[in-house]
Amino acid sequence: MSVKTPYSFFESVEKSFDKAAQFTKWEDGILQQIKACNSVYRMRFPIKRDNGSIEVMEAYRVQHSQHKSPCKGGIRFSEAVNQDEVMALAALMTFKCAIVNVPFGGAKGGIKINPRNYSTYELEKITRRYTSELVKKNFIGPGIDVPAPDYGTGEREMAWIVDTYQSLKPGEIDAAGCVTGKPITQGGVRGRKEATGLGVFFGIREVCNMTEVMNKLGLTTGVEGKKVVVQGLGNVGYHTAKFFREHGAMIICLAEYEGAIFNAAGLNEEQVFQHRKKTGSILNFPGASNLAVNTDALELDCDILIPAALENVINGDNAQRVKAKIIAEAANGPCTPEADEIFIQKGILCIPDMYLNAGGVTVSYFEWLKNLSHVRYGRLEKRFSENMNAHILGQIEELSGKMVSEKERLFIMHGAEEVDLVHSGLEETMVSATREIMDIWISNPSIPDMRTAAYVSAINKVAISYVELGIFP
Ligand code: NAD
Repeated sequence: MSVKTPYSFFESVEKSFDKAAQFTKWEDGILQQIKACNSVYRMRFPIKRDNGSIEVMEAYRVQHSQHKSPCKGGIRFSEAVNQDEVMALAALMTFKCAIVNVPFGGAKGGIKINPRNYSTYELEKITRRYTSELVKKNFIGPGIDVPAPDYGTGEREMAWIVDTYQSLKPGEIDAAGCVTGKPITQGGVRGRKEATGLGVFFGIREVCNMTEVMNKLGLTTGVEGKKVVVQGLGNVGYHTAKFFREHGAMIICLAEYEGAIFNAAGLNEEQVFQHRKKTGSILNFPGASNLAVNTDALELDCDILIPAALENVINGDNAQRVKAKIIAEAANGPCTPEADEIFIQKGILCIPDMYLNAGGVTVSYFEWLKNLSHVRYGRLEKRFSENMNAHILGQIEELSGKMVSEKERLFIMHGAEEVDLVHSGLEETMVSATREIMDIWISNPSIPDMRTAAYVSAINKVAISYVELGIFP
């Protein structure tokens, strides 16, 4: 679904930026520098198709900001790729990284293809050629620019990228850090798959734990018992629904492109996922009722609505009918600026995408750190912690004369594995970012919404890097 707006994607990012910039103290020149896209690399290269014909590819890599090195951002394979889109997404990466204190500049890449129209061999050739074009222009490297998966790309493409890079840069000791989202066997990190959904959960949970915010919305504090609607049962939607259910919320509705299902007593995302796999549709799930149109899900009476599928799904046409108290943007750009205005009037809290779905880039940062340190998280301390925990527990049991249950014993003894540390780092990141944004919002009541407060947080951090570190010549 695409809604026509009078301005381009990049212009809409600029609009949000300008709206927030008036709540900062920075002089215009600095704001202009933060807003500008520093480098745009548009490339053309030929590929020989399986049928022998030659096709010329159109591809981009945009480095929006180098206020921190390296730059970071995904690569998408989509027919909709164009320079404006890649520039907008690169700018959003700059702000996203700043908000969650990931020390990277923003970047984004794209190849204008529908990957479904190409064989695996053709996709491999395209990805490898794209990588070598980036190497030629010094647009990739662990200290320069670090791509990641995005729409239409995944672990497989990242493995091709790292392999191409390593073959062109023999002996570069940190070469594995040239890209993130790699398979574990190629230097990836455990916990990446669920990272965005888990980050979405941590971010919303933190907001739900703020008594004043909940009182204003007429909601009780905490996640437990909240009625949640999730649009999109893909990677982000599935994991978000899973973590909410596991923490006592009720997933009353799940929507996919073929329809939506409702059960006031709560749905189990894994059972729905299996049902969809078996029958090819989310509809007719046992115990649930079907909704006539899938977008009806967006207008249900609920506490939290989580769009986790597409952009522009809540817009000037339907925002007035949204009944949720909280809209949590797990997807990128699900609400238009027109919808934002309506939420402000209706007193609906919109938790913005730019920070809420930053779990992916946060865990990518952990992957990059792992690659630079050349050691798996937890390898050094796991056994030490377990031995120490066993010793402490033994002492407590001896002194108290009481034994803990077997379940408690296992829990207390457990030394942190890689996935435990990644989840813990993600939780810390999302909780801190939520508090920083809320502090900005609360300390300046003229800031109209949380999105603007998030932009203010980003602008302040990028400006501080530019100014206080003396980057301006
Ligand atoms: P995905 O492809 O795994 O899942 C998207 C799901 O949405 C699919 O199951 C699809 O069938 C469904 N869908 C499509 N049209 C729909 C419609 N009209 N109504 C309801 N459902 C529909 O993608 P994903 O990785 O889960 O990404 C979802 C969103 O989150 C995107 O906006 C993406 O940019 C954003 N995001 C993803 C990540 C990540 O780590 N995967 C990180 C940040 C942001």
